[in-house]
Amino acid sequence: MDLSLTPEQSEIQALTRELAQAEIEPHAAEWDRQERFPRELFGKLAELGLMGVCIPEEYGGAGADFLAYVLVLEELSRADAGVGVTVAVHTSAVALPILLFGTDEQKARFVPPLARGEQLGAFALTEPEAGSDAGALRTRADADDDGWTITGTKQWITNGAHAGTFLLFARTDPETPGARGVSAFVLDGNDVQATKEHEKLGLHSSSTVDIVVEGAHVGRDRLLHEEGKGFAVAMVTLDGGRIGIAAQAVGIAQAAYDIARAYALERRQFGKRIGEFQAIQWKLADMSTEIDAARLLVYRAAELKQRGEPHTEAGAKAKLFASGVARRHTAEAIQILGGYGYTKEFPVERFYRDAKITEIYEGTSEIQRLVIARSILGLRERTIARG
Ligand SMILES: Cc1cc2nc3c(=O)[nH]c(=O)nc-3n(C[C@H](O)[C@H](O)[C@H](O)COP(=O)(O)OP(=O)(O)OC[C@H]3O[C@@H](n4cnc5c(N)ncnc54)[C@H](O)[C@@H]3O)c2cc1C
Repeated sequence: MDLSLTPEQSEIQALTRELAQAEIEPHAAEWDRQERFPRELFGKLAELGLMGVCIPEEYGGAGADFLAYVLVLEELSRADAGVGVTVAVHTSAVALPILLFGTDEQKARFVPPLARGEQLGAFALTEPEAGSDAGALRTRADADDDGWTITGTKQWITNGAHAGTFLLFARTDPETPGARGVSAFVLDGNDVQATKEHEKLGLHSSSTVDIVVEGAHVGRDRLLHEEGKGFAVAMVTLDGGRIGIAAQAVGIAQAAYDIARAYALERRQFGKRIGEFQAIQWKLADMSTEIDAARLLVYRAAELKQRGEPHTEAGAKAKLFASGVARRHTAEAIQILGGYGYTKEFPVERFYRDAKITEIYEGTSEIQRLVIARSILGLRERTIARG
């Protein structure tokens, strides 16, 4: 077993870290306060190939592997988790499934503008009545001679107000309830209207909107994969996507740990640095250990996906564990900073607010446990939508 990164992976990691320190970290507090989506940043990321890092060069990407992409998400999220999720959804929830399930024509048409960062991607599955139970979705795609007319509402769509390409799921067979009547479509930004930008606990530099599709007509060339097989597209997409969210969690936890460690070596009370108190040492030891463990779970899942091996269980374990680590240890970082941790003088309160979402989107922690339990018990049937 080789745990070292390849020269290319190390180079991409270093390049992203440098960019994040120069272009993201200095602005993250302001974007958070102003709840501002930094649209201009994604052009800069695109110039460095980071909007399509794991997309093959022939489709406009940087041609690196999936682990390199995961390293990018970790580094971006270490500086700003909102930027991390924008890139994560764009890449692993839109560009990658089009590459995997698309026809040659669809791949050549839809992927390069995404990989080059000329367009942002959005993934539209969730609806008001269909969250964890995504197979209950109601958005309709009514067939006619030359395609479908799509009508429906989607909720909490990351990038939905800025995207030029949507991977959207709709019911093509109204007679078949549940997952089997669902198909996947590639829509343009002008097929979709954003209706409401949500105010959130954290992740303020990421845009999360509700969208409506009101009778948009799409041709047969917009169907991704086979009719009625859209749910499989969604599940395979989330299998990979949640490895990215786990990397986001590791990035947030690492950022909180870095600040807590530095503070413990500086802050003096009772005539000592607080890092000399065993209570603080043990917190830092636990943080460091669990962040390492989370990162290794993420790398393992990414490696399995890269090799084309089954990674559903490994990805679910990585997300379940890493998101818990991020939530717990961002709270511990606040504790180590005492009163300062609770103020906006330091970014740990932002990390704490940002960390929570990693236990919710791309499948909640309860759903990850269901996925893991089903896998270890050999229960293959997909009874739970996001599994
Ligand atoms: C900031 C943000 C960004 C998002 N981005 C996107 C996006 O880009 N695209 C998209 O399609 N969606 C997106 N979502 C939606 C997200 O994926 C869902 O919120 C998530 O899957 C959970 O669905 P829900 O919120 O409806 O919760 P519910 O499904 O209503 O769950 C509520 C609670 O019940 C639990 N629960 C549900 N079913 C079970 C069960 N069978 N067993 C045990 N517990 C259960 C859940 O774990 C949770 O604790 C986003 C959400 C947020 C908040």
